[in-house]
Amino acid sequence: MTSPVSHTESVNRSRAVEQLVIGQATSDGAGVTLTRVLTQPLQQRLDPFLMLDAFGSDDPDDYIAGFPDHPHRGFETVTYMVAGRLLHRDSAGHEGLIETGGVQWMTAGRGLIHAEIPQQRDGRMEGFQLWLNLPARDKMRAPWYRNFTAPELPSLLTEDRARVTVIAGVSRAVTGAVTRETTAPLFLDLHLPAGARFAQALPPEHNAFVYVYRGQIEIAGQSVPAQRMAILANDPVADGVVVEASVDARVLLIAGRPLREPIAQYGPFVMTTAEEIRQAVRDFNAGRLA
Ligand code: MN
Repeated sequence: MTSPVSHTESVNRSRAVEQLVIGQATSDGAGVTLTRVLTQPLQQRLDPFLMLDAFGSDDPDDYIAGFPDHPHRGFETVTYMVAGRLLHRDSAGHEGLIETGGVQWMTAGRGLIHAEIPQQRDGRMEGFQLWLNLPARDKMRAPWYRNFTAPELPSLLTEDRARVTVIAGVSRAVTGAVTRETTAPLFLDLHLPAGARFAQALPPEHNAFVYVYRGQIEIAGQSVPAQRMAILANDPVADGVVVEASVDARVLLIAGRPLREPIAQYGPFVMTTAEEIRQAVRDFNAGRLA
């Protein structure tokens, strides 16, 4: 769904880069090698986002074990496949294959058990998983799930030949695959050819960051190399961000309205109080998440 419209988005003053972050190499699931880009110490700063994992390897030993049955409660997961095939199956009865360029959006809500299993024995697997918090009043809502193939995702082409996939939120009057009222998440994948400049309006109070996964970009004169997250300053006089690419680059741009609620996390459970976490563990142990 590429919109022919090339609505411009004017930004008078770009946010600056507040901090460059190198992710932490780790392993999760049954032994999947990944980089945790947004880690727990940044959860308050990047509220409503709780985690961003980047995975990418040509070596099946890094991904083949996948993520067998595990629970979640209290937030949403957004999985974006840059390359590869991953099967999702959960206890709420959802099943779907995420393939190259596809997105899976899962609201764990009150809880479910799910598995994410690679459907390839070799070749490249690359992608991201973003965790988006739910407001306290929605944490116990019913689970929800949608799978979007690459052609089903709204996208647009700018006058600079930048191709933008609008996974969530609104960019240049193109509404993304998913919208959420409370946190108003924006999730864009930018494919920028060398020389392209891309402007995105952002409310100053929304927390925002970019992650460069190919090439390199500049934001307000600061260079952001590949495999770096740049946290964008919440400047009351900045009305958005301007991303400039001097070489071909691919970049995630993610922003949202902070919830400003307490965050209590224990592994795959994210609630607002320690007692809610204890309840989640009791419910999981009693089989009530399945
Ligand atoms: Mn999971």
